[in-house]
Amino acid sequence: MTELPGIVITGGSGRMGQMLINTVLNSDKAKLVGVVDRAGHDWVGQDIGVAMGGAAVGVTVTDDPVQVFAQAQAVIDFTSPAATVEFAGLAAQARAVHVIGTTGLTEDDIAAIGRAARHTRIVRAGNMSLGVNLLVKLTQMVAEALDDDFDIEVIEAHHHHKVDAPSGTALMLGEAAAKGRGVNLNDVSDSGRDGITGARTKGDIGFSAIRGGDIVGEHDVLFAAAGERIVLRHLATDRAIFARGAVKAALWGLDKDPGEYDMFDVLGL
Ligand code: NAD
Repeated sequence: MTELPGIVITGGSGRMGQMLINTVLNSDKAKLVGVVDRAGHDWVGQDIGVAMGGAAVGVTVTDDPVQVFAQAQAVIDFTSPAATVEFAGLAAQARAVHVIGTTGLTEDDIAAIGRAARHTRIVRAGNMSLGVNLLVKLTQMVAEALDDDFDIEVIEAHHHHKVDAPSGTALMLGEAAAKGRGVNLNDVSDSGRDGITGARTKGDIGFSAIRGGDIVGEHDVLFAAAGERIVLRHLATDRAIFARGAVKAALWGLDKDPGEYDMFDVLGL
């Protein structure tokens, strides 16, 4: 029998980390070979199954990524930008596929990740769900079909712990709308409106962020013109959709050449 590919989950105590661990433990296509969390976290040194409130699974949480990445074929990483940049370099050294779900990355972070991708396969997406990636494609098509008499607004809602805004998904949708319109998002992006902002500039792509409770992730792309509106909507009700997409991306990346990929590549969209 061939060995199943080994996956390491970083940020194991996080909302996504725990979901990813359960997804890998329940998978018949991959096995969990390591869990990393930040130095000083209570869970470091504990069996991950016990730390999550269940039975032992034989994998101890570590704060030493180098040692566990060396045993992995893939690393799935939903942590923070600083941690993700560090993990990109270490996953490249270990030649492990690096699946990045972390959002809020700066241009410098993305450049550093690009350098790591010369040595391994990196799949990065602000949203790993099939539904959202379809929504991105639809947004581009609708923006292409409509002229700038239609104002484009991206409205997103997330739980009250989320630290970055607009969400990575909202930015993906904004990029798709800009691409459909043949413009650069940086030139037309309008976010964080407050106070006397003046009238809306024609052609802008606006962003609004709602934060509250336990909302997993909701995104609307609104195309508003005089007399009519089109709304494209995705509602995530379970983080499992992101975890399933991430595990799929890790397995997909195993036989690919080094380079940067996204979920459109994985899903063949
Ligand atoms: P969270 O705060 O619940 O979890 C983050 C985890 O990372 C924690 O366990 C924390 O201890 C760990 N961490 C931080 N720094 C670390 C380090 N240096 N080394 C090891 N572990 C470290 O956050 P969350 O809700 O799970 O989200 C995590 C990230 O994933 C965010 O950027 C979020 O926006 C993103 N996200 C992406 C998608 C997607 O589909 N791409 C979906 C949901 C969330």
